[in-house]
Amino acid sequence: MRCLFEPRLVNDTFGDPGLYVDFRDERRALLFDLGDITVLPPRKLMRVSHVFVTHTHMDHFAGFDHLLRVVLGRKAGLMLFGGPDFVAQVEHKLHAYTWNVVHRYDELVLDVCEIGTDGRGRRARFSSRTRFKREANASFEWSGDIVHDEATFRVRGRFVDHDIPCLSYAIEEKAHVNVAKDRLEALGVGVGPWLRELKHAVLTGASGTTPIDVQWRDRDGEHAMARTVDELCHLILDIAPGQRIGYVTDLRNTEANVKVLSALLEDVDVLFIESVFLDEDAEHGARKNHLTAGQAGRIARTVRAKTVKPFHFSPRYEGRAAEVIAEVQAARSSP
Ligand SMILES: [Zn+2]
Ligand SMILES: [Zn+2]
Repeated sequence: MRCLFEPRLVNDTFGDPGLYVDFRDERRALLFDLGDITVLPPRKLMRVSHVFVTHTHMDHFAGFDHLLRVVLGRKAGLMLFGGPDFVAQVEHKLHAYTWNVVHRYDELVLDVCEIGTDGRGRRARFSSRTRFKREANASFEWSGDIVHDEATFRVRGRFVDHDIPCLSYAIEEKAHVNVAKDRLEALGVGVGPWLRELKHAVLTGASGTTPIDVQWRDRDGEHAMARTVDELCHLILDIAPGQRIGYVTDLRNTEANVKVLSALLEDVDVLFIESVFLDEDAEHGARKNHLTAGQAGRIARTVRAKTVKPFHFSPRYEGRAAEVIAEVQAARSSP
């Protein structure tokens, strides 16, 4: 089934962690983590509207400068999300540069949202017009786990323990709405912008009585009729649950963490999960606050992930990626 978005790891499994979620029908993308992102060409970075950072270890945040450099003067805005102290950390990065000529460029506004572990969050805005001075600085209450919500998808986040708090994310398409082309043809109705309007109405939960102006053009000329969302829905749409993606990286293998992930990711379609060490180095993994491949596989089994994509392999296994992957898959499928 055709999904709203297409997720891909930014780097190979030994490279810095990061997930690029491309939208199929829009020139738009989401980015999870900001490590080394130089492999993404500027045209792909320009599509990024929202960035979700798990934590600010360098391999997850050092790419902020690169992103800023690419979008500055070319893009109007960007929204960034992160954990405790994130607003101050973004501010420190911005203030490490000299901005005496930045007002000559088109304005870039960074909206930064920080999520606390205590149910409080903070938002702030940094504009190139004011040399990235902190503005609109305000705190807010954060309850539940929804980090970002739009008509067609949402991003949820929960903290796991990596010696420091670290966010795991779930990216959820709200529903799949497919147009049954054969039924549309049988009705003798042509396609037009009204189809997009109808899909949007369904995805945003508009009332069934909402009128849709069905207009189309064919070789006989222009046609128009008025129908309600409900009428059209039953006739030509197939609605199925949306795709769900998990992005889990940098955490200890603890019971509490597994519980958090179960609440966030139960029955997820695709689980991207760190698999840093082999089980034979589990003690070392525990000291480094990372998962082994076996532990990642067992988590995938616990949350009943349909597909698993391991990443963030330690460089000590260079040339042995197949072994790491095999250990994840074996742990996932063992009873
Ligand atoms: Zn880390
Ligand atoms: Zn890391």
